[in-house]
Amino acid sequence: MREAIIVGNWKMNKNNAETQAFFEEVDPAAVSDKALYGIGAPFTDLKTALDNAKNLIVAAENVHFEDSGAFTGEVSVPMLEELGVKYCIIGHSERRQMFGDTDETVNKKAKKLLAAGMTPILCIGETEEEYDAGKTKDVITSQLNGSLADIPADEYKNIVIAYEPIWAIGTGKSASVEIAEDCCRLVRDVVRDMVGEEAAEAVRIQYGGSVKPGNIVEYMAQPDIDGALIGGASLKPDSFLEIIEKTK
Ligand code: 13P
Repeated sequence: MREAIIVGNWKMNKNNAETQAFFEEVDPAAVSDKALYGIGAPFTDLKTALDNAKNLIVAAENVHFEDSGAFTGEVSVPMLEELGVKYCIIGHSERRQMFGDTDETVNKKAKKLLAAGMTPILCIGETEEEYDAGKTKDVITSQLNGSLADIPADEYKNIVIAYEPIWAIGTGKSASVEIAEDCCRLVRDVVRDMVGEEAAEAVRIQYGGSVKPGNIVEYMAQPDIDGALIGGASLKPDSFLEIIEKTK
């Protein structure tokens, strides 16, 4: 049985004082035998988050695939490891669209994280144009083939894939439960084709895109949706607490 994993993605929001206040309020409630809860925070907030996390898992929102060197402004896997970070979001559509992340670089990041015993939360998903043109399956397949290339089947138990249709991110226009489940099942089917049944059953798949307290329960009830990646609704302690209470 796959353990559910519900993670907030704060994106470029919150300072250290706000991080501390959030964790003090939310962390005590984030205990469940059904699900893991966590927060993806900016690099500058990670230490504060980890210092205040007894229950919440803490994720970085990006990482570089080299250990060190002339990469101004970047942060490496060993640097995250030193802090005690165990999860890292990679390939978010905002990074793919604005900061040049590609399936190839995301693949290198995934391999580096796995080699360090960390869990990548790999984001994929199609644009509205691709969705309208009926290309969702092609896009998902090529993103997964590229981003997870050459990763052995037995690593998939340590991988989380977040299916986030770009048209549903920050728009309030969440994918219907049927579309979200269909696409998450498709993700599992593609993984099965790539590396086999055991890996497909082990990999955890999240839906992301305008998830909020009012729709989380329906998504979590779907057989192929093992969790959620939540932007806006993870920023306020009250709404993230409501999400926890409804799913624990
Ligand atoms: P919203 O929940 O704000 O739509 O953001 C989703 C997202 O991008 C999470 O990574």
